Amino acid sequence: MNYKYRLSHFPPIVAALLCCFLSLNLVLVSCRPSSQDSYQRNRFRMGTLITITVVCQSQKKAMHAIDKAFTIISDIENQTSAHLPQSYTSLINETAGKKNISVSADFLLVIQKSLEYSQLTNGAFDITIGPITALWRFDDDQGMLPSSEEIKKKLPLVGYQGIYYDKVNGLVGLKMPGSGMDLGGIAKGYAVDQAVKVLQQEGIKAGIVNAGGDLRLFGHKTEKEKNWHIGIQHPRKPEGILLSLKITDKSIVTSGDYERFFLKDGIRYHHIIDPKTGRPPHNCQGVTILAESTLAADALATAVFILGPDKGMKLIETLPKVEGIIVDNQGEVTLSSGLPSKVIWREDNH
Ligand code: ADP
Ligand code: MG
Repeated sequence: MNYKYRLSHFPPIVAALLCCFLSLNLVLVSCRPSSQDSYQRNRFRMGTLITITVVCQSQKKAMHAIDKAFTIISDIENQTSAHLPQSYTSLINETAGKKNISVSADFLLVIQKSLEYSQLTNGAFDITIGPITALWRFDDDQGMLPSSEEIKKKLPLVGYQGIYYDKVNGLVGLKMPGSGMDLGGIAKGYAVDQAVKVLQQEGIKAGIVNAGGDLRLFGHKTEKEKNWHIGIQHPRKPEGILLSLKITDKSIVTSGDYERFFLKDGIRYHHIIDPKTGRPPHNCQGVTILAESTLAADALATAVFILGPDKGMKLIETLPKVEGIIVDNQGEVTLSSGLPSKVIWREDNH
């Protein structure tokens, strides 16, 4: 059973009690352990600020591990970014309809997973959205409203069935000339997973990798406290926390209509595009997914946002070890069945 809460009707008395219960070190999407043995570094990668926090007694070991984690993130960015001319994505897009490209095992896995999530979500998640996202220009600009004609012209190029994927020979391509891949809805999640893997290989037992809200928590926050305390941003209050979660060894990813958007004639246009219409859907303000991998959470957050609250929550409930928080277009919050015990509400949401 799902749990629904209308933010505006949240009882103030309960809210006040919860307020007392909340720890003070809560920040927007993550918090540092209170012990001194934690180290944190920020770098701008994959179009967002990436923060790596590790719990470790040795500064030298911590910094070495963090550097290695950033190196793998840069490596994945170099392979997947459509803005870098030498990336596999750019090569595939340039040669669409002409030839297939020999790619790395990492890239092959991202494509395989993308195809799986396309099938699972009935095409709501689709990396061949490239020609349409190019029209909306959220990546290199503030975004702009394309004409209906432009969308209509490009829409036939979208469809994951148009991806050529040959696992045995490590080849990926696009079957139709003019089609294009955009891995913006999944690559960051994969990069976070790989960064955590590197940290663990370097002997780091606990930490957070946070790529602009796509994050993974691992290990015990402190000796005394196992769980990390994570705040989920309120979709309509830039400085506000919707609710927080006490959790570890999980990935948490949010897709929202407030991250990259513009307003025109009172309508909010944002960067998550429905492949069926070529336009941003308006059923949700934000979707947060908790999953066993950041890649899964990333792809599912984008897809559930497009599917909308009803179909989206139904999908979440069918998936093992996946939980979700959906804020619909009226601000009503629905939690999946496994979440209520982990959630702490904020007092200022009414
Ligand atoms: P963010 O990148 O802000 O964390 P998302 O994970 O929801 O947010 O991804 C949005 C990005 O995914 C867009 O900027 C675009 O690159 C890409 N995208 C947009 N619509 C889709 C879609 N239907 N399927 C797959 N990727 C998409
Ligand atoms: Mg995503």
